[in-house]
Amino acid sequence: MPLRPPRVTEIRGKRVLVRVDFNVPLKTVKTRSGQEVQRVADDQRLRNSLETLNFLQENEVKIILISHLGRPEGKVHPQESLYPVAQYLQRKMGLNCQFAEDCVGEKAKQAITKLQNGEILLLENLRFHPGEESNDPHFAAELAKFADVYINEAFSASHRTHASIVGVSQLLPSFAGFALSFEVKMLRTLLEKTEHPFVVVMGGAKIDDKVATLKNLARLADMVLIGGGLANSFLKAGGIETHRSFIGENPEKTLALARSILQAHKTERSVLPLKEKVGNQTHTTELPFPKIVLPIDVLAAKNKTIDQKKDLQTISLLHDAKDRPDDIDLQYFDLGPQSTQLYCYILRQAKTIFWNGPMGVFENPLFAQGSKKIARCIADRGKHRAITICGGGETGELVNTLGLRDRFSHVSTAGGAALEFLGGSELPGISALEKNT
Ligand code: ADP
Ligand code: MG
Repeated sequence: MPLRPPRVTEIRGKRVLVRVDFNVPLKTVKTRSGQEVQRVADDQRLRNSLETLNFLQENEVKIILISHLGRPEGKVHPQESLYPVAQYLQRKMGLNCQFAEDCVGEKAKQAITKLQNGEILLLENLRFHPGEESNDPHFAAELAKFADVYINEAFSASHRTHASIVGVSQLLPSFAGFALSFEVKMLRTLLEKTEHPFVVVMGGAKIDDKVATLKNLARLADMVLIGGGLANSFLKAGGIETHRSFIGENPEKTLALARSILQAHKTERSVLPLKEKVGNQTHTTELPFPKIVLPIDVLAAKNKTIDQKKDLQTISLLHDAKDRPDDIDLQYFDLGPQSTQLYCYILRQAKTIFWNGPMGVFENPLFAQGSKKIARCIADRGKHRAITICGGGETGELVNTLGLRDRFSHVSTAGGAALEFLGGSELPGISALEKNT
């Protein structure tokens, strides 16, 4: 069954339990009286659930929100209380939100009894109870008994077989939140309804987390452009000198994986049009490209904290090692200008693009050019009706700082869950909804 948000008739006047992902970063601040308190440092995840919350409020629903925060591992850990989130929803987002100091038991029950239609109650951190992560059926039943309907609005936690994600969904009529539905729709577009050419751009540093995704997407895509720390592994696996560049936490394993991916696609080619103007006429020929494309030049330095352009070197990787500097202390930190141009040329032919992971150590402005240009190039494809999706913590941060968020078809904030989904895994939370809807 397709998963979908509830219709008005399915929720009006009811008690609705909404699993959200309010696992937001907190910061400690000092109040005027000198007391140290926790405050929400970034509200992106809260805003993700707004469409669902507004819909429920408009329809006179008693809204009971459940979430995890951090990793308290089944014990009450006041530093990981959701109370600052309830305060934020009330004070900064103008929502009529109350808070209960426990997510099950008497305190929760009393707070729910007092709840009026259209009001919101946030229950304390689910992970203060061990039953959440162990998907304990009794804990799931305790949560389910507070409500008539369940909504999962936490795609980013849906790769976990936890009580609030799977257990509760087996006990109540269950629906998808608007953001979750959209996320699944967009990610499925990449996997199932892809318009070609489909180009994947992968970079970043968390290589081991991305291997399954990369393997699956490499199978589906026409071309895969590799950048960032990931590029170093692929370059080295392909026999190119990378000096002291970052290869991954476990270089031997990473290199073996990179080698196997290169090997698997060794014989595949994509052709891209090359337009040539001769006199008044434009001729188009087709150029063959390997499926997995690696940088042809890089920006290198002795360390990533340099702040002078003179400490930066552009290294061409087109020739064999003899032509390159033999400085063993060098590390590769960004795409070089030729690679950036090549990648943008390829991206301009794409109808579907998925991007995960920065192209360089963008935190240092000297190594941010590759990531910025690729981000702008992908955003521009939106004007040509290409589907453009990006995901990942740092990638999303980059897109936000460049003010490009609205120019992407979708910016996923779902991290590991999105990568698992794109890696071809069934997410337990999504399967549970599909069985139920
Ligand atoms: P995301 O969160 O978008 O999935 P990752 O967490 O995998 O991305 O990686 C982001 C990090 O990768 C950034 O902090 C960046 O500094 C680092 N990085 C990118 N390129 C390189 C490189 N060539 N060498 C070392 N680190 C890199
Ligand atoms: Mg990251």
